[in-house]
Amino acid sequence: MADFLIIGADAAGLSAAVQLKRRLPGTEIKVINKGRIISYGACGIPYVISGDISGSQKLVHFTPESFEKERGVPVHILQEAVDVFPQEHTVEIRDLNTGETYREAYGKLLIGTGARPVRLPFIDYALEGVFNLHTIEDLDRVLLFLEEEKPGEAAIIGAGNVGLELAEALSHKGIRVRIFDIAPEPAFQWPPLIRRAVAGKIKEKGIDFLGGTAIRSLERRNGRLSLGTDDAAAYEADVVFSVVGTVPATEFCRDKLNAKKNGALFADRRGQTCDPDIYAAGDCASVYHRLLDRNVYFPLGSTANKMGRIAGINMAGGDILFPGIVGTQILKFFELSLAKTGLSQEEAEKEGFRARRFSAARPDKAAYFPGAAPAKVEVVCEEDSGVLLGAAAVSETNAAQFIDAAAVAVFAGMGIEDLAWFDSAYAPPFAPVWNALVSAALKSSKA
Ligand SMILES: Cc1cc2nc3c(=O)[nH]c(=O)nc-3n(C[C@H](O)[C@H](O)[C@H](O)COP(=O)(O)OP(=O)(O)OC[C@H]3O[C@@H](n4cnc5c(N)ncnc54)[C@H](O)[C@@H]3O)c2cc1C
Repeated sequence: MADFLIIGADAAGLSAAVQLKRRLPGTEIKVINKGRIISYGACGIPYVISGDISGSQKLVHFTPESFEKERGVPVHILQEAVDVFPQEHTVEIRDLNTGETYREAYGKLLIGTGARPVRLPFIDYALEGVFNLHTIEDLDRVLLFLEEEKPGEAAIIGAGNVGLELAEALSHKGIRVRIFDIAPEPAFQWPPLIRRAVAGKIKEKGIDFLGGTAIRSLERRNGRLSLGTDDAAAYEADVVFSVVGTVPATEFCRDKLNAKKNGALFADRRGQTCDPDIYAAGDCASVYHRLLDRNVYFPLGSTANKMGRIAGINMAGGDILFPGIVGTQILKFFELSLAKTGLSQEEAEKEGFRARRFSAARPDKAAYFPGAAPAKVEVVCEEDSGVLLGAAAVSETNAAQFIDAAAVAVFAGMGIEDLAWFDSAYAPPFAPVWNALVSAALKSSKA
C-alpha cells in the first residue's frame, strides 16, 4: 500500500508529490501516469510548431528517472487508473504494457488527471492529416506530418486560444490557414475589446475566418481532406486540426465523487473532494472563484500548479486554503498580447451585477519614444460601489503589465478610484505617465 497515491504526473500531480516528499520525507509516495511522457509544458506546443522553440523535448522538464533522482518520488508510466473504490481505499489500474489490471491501496489519493480534448463525433481522428493538439505525442505526430507532407493549406476547427495560437504558428511556416467556428466571432470567450482586436489581426494576416459555421463532416477525397459544413458547403485542406475545447479526464471516477455536469470533480479550497481521503487538482477539477464565491471550471496551467501544491501541503497534514482565482489569462496572437482578469461587463451582468465599463487607449511608451504603439484597456466596476470586477487589455508590448496590476486590484476588492490614482511605473521607454489602465479607471473619477 502507498501512503499517498497520485494519479497524473504533470502540473497538478507532480506539484503535490514535491510538497509531500518535502514535508514527509520518509513516507511512501507513488505516482502513476497513463502517458509515457511526464512533466511537460503543453503551453509551449504552438511555439514548437512555429519554430520559436527547437523541438518538443525542450518542453519536457523531467523524465520519470530524473524526477525520481532529483525529487525522490518514483513515477510509474503507462499505468492508467480505470476505477476507484473509496470505501476500500483502492484504485484499479491497467498496466498498458501488458493490458492487465491490478488494485493499488492508498492512504490518501490525489486525482490530477487533467483534461482531454473534445472529439467531434463525425471525425475519424485516425485519418492521416487530422489532429488534436494536447500532448507531446500529438505534437510529435504533427511535426512529422508537417516535415514529410509539407501541407499548403490548413483548416482549424475552433477559434479559441489554442486554435488562434496554432493559426499564428502555421502562418509563420507559410501555410495558408482557414479557421471555422460555430460562434460568430473568433475568441468568443473573451470580451468584445479583445474579440475585435483578434478579428482585425486575422484579416490583416490574410487568414480566412468562417464564423457561425459548424463543420458536420470530414473525409479524405482525392488525396485531400474535405470538410462539409451545415449549410452544405465544402472546403478542402491538406491538414485539419480539431481544437474545440477540453473536458475533465475523470470518466473512471466521476460517478463515485461529487462532479460538475462536465465531469469536473468538486475540490474545496484545501483541494479535498467529497471524500476526506481523496483530493483533486488541476484541469480535472473545478476551482474556487473569488468574485463569484463558487467553484467554476477554468482549466489553466497556472491554476493547476497552485491547486496541486495546496493539495499536497494539506495531504501532508498542513492547513492551507487556496484563496481562489479571479480568472486571469493572457494570449499572444501575432503582434498582439491580449489579457483579461475578473469579469467582462457581459459576464458581470449575467451574474446579476450592475456593471459599468470605462476604456482608454494610450501609447504603451511615452508618445514621443520610438516604437510607441497604442494600448487599449477597459475596466469594469460595480455601478454603485465602484468595486472593481474586471479588466481587459490589448497591447503590442505586453498586456501583462496592465492585467497583473488589475488582477491584484480585483483580487483585493479595490475600488476603481484607487486604481485611477495608483502609483504606476513611468519612464519613456516603458510606459507613459498616464498609462492605459490608469486612464481607463480615471474616466470614472468624479474629481
Ligand atoms: C496547446 C496548449 C496550450 C496551452 N496554453 C496555456 C497557457 O498559455 N497558459 C495556461 O495557463 N495554460 C495553458 N494550457 C493548459 C495547461 O497546459 C493545462 O491547464 C495544464 O497542463 C493542466 O495540468 P494538469 O496537471 O491538471 O493536467 P495535464 O497536464 O493534462 O496532466 C494530466 C496527466 O494525467 C495523466 N492521466 C490522465 N488520465 C489518467 C488516468 N486515468 N490514469 C493515469 N494517468 C492519467 C495524463 O497522461 C497526463 O500526464 C495549454 C494547453 C494546451 C494543450
